[in-house]
Amino acid sequence: MQRLNFTLDEQTVGLLDKLSETYYSGNKSLTVRAALESLAAHTEHDGWVVAGYTAVVLDMQAACHTCGSNHMKGEVLYRPVFERGHGKQAMATLPKKIWLECSACLEAIK
Ligand SMILES: [Zn+2]
Repeated sequence: MQRLNFTLDEQTVGLLDKLSETYYSGNKSLTVRAALESLAAHTEHDGWVVAGYTAVVLDMQAACHTCGSNHMKGEVLYRPVFERGHGKQAMATLPKKIWLECSACLEAIK
């Protein structure tokens, strides 16, 4: 157990009072815990996120995933490296198609 100090505005205090009285016999700790668990359940989507990019020298013509520009054999494009993670950007499954970004689009993403 740890004691945390928060500064909450009037509205939040009112909401906490109301919810804790209604659902948790006035226990504010339990109310905050339930609220956080609910938030976690709604925001955390386990999946795949882009961890970084690795340079690829094309051995055949390819198009940029984002802008669609065409690039010739010998040019350098960037392939995303995926890792398990969660967040708004997370994808449920790994992309099935080849995914390469041109340097201009990568600059815009970063
Ligand atoms: Zn591009």
